[in-house]
Amino acid sequence: MEFNKCSQCGAFFSNTGKLCPNCATKDTVKIQKLENYLENYSIPETLEELSYSTGISSKDLNRYINENNKFSNLNNIINNTL
Ligand SMILES: [Zn+2]
Repeated sequence: MEFNKCSQCGAFFSNTGKLCPNCATKDTVKIQKLENYLENYSIPETLEELSYSTGISSKDLNRYINENNKFSNLNNIINNTL
């Protein structure tokens, strides 16, 4: 049996992918939260603001924006932040 190491918490798991089932579930919830926010509000100017409004850490937001094409319109606020 092959094991993968979760890139988030370091736990070993037997599924495919970068995240263990635990972290994958947490990610799904946070991504849904982010999508919800974007549907109802305009995009804030900075990543900190978005993080504050959604309760998602800027580290996670960075990851979602980089990994998920549907958040490509958020690239601007990363650039604003840098
Ligand atoms: Zn994990």
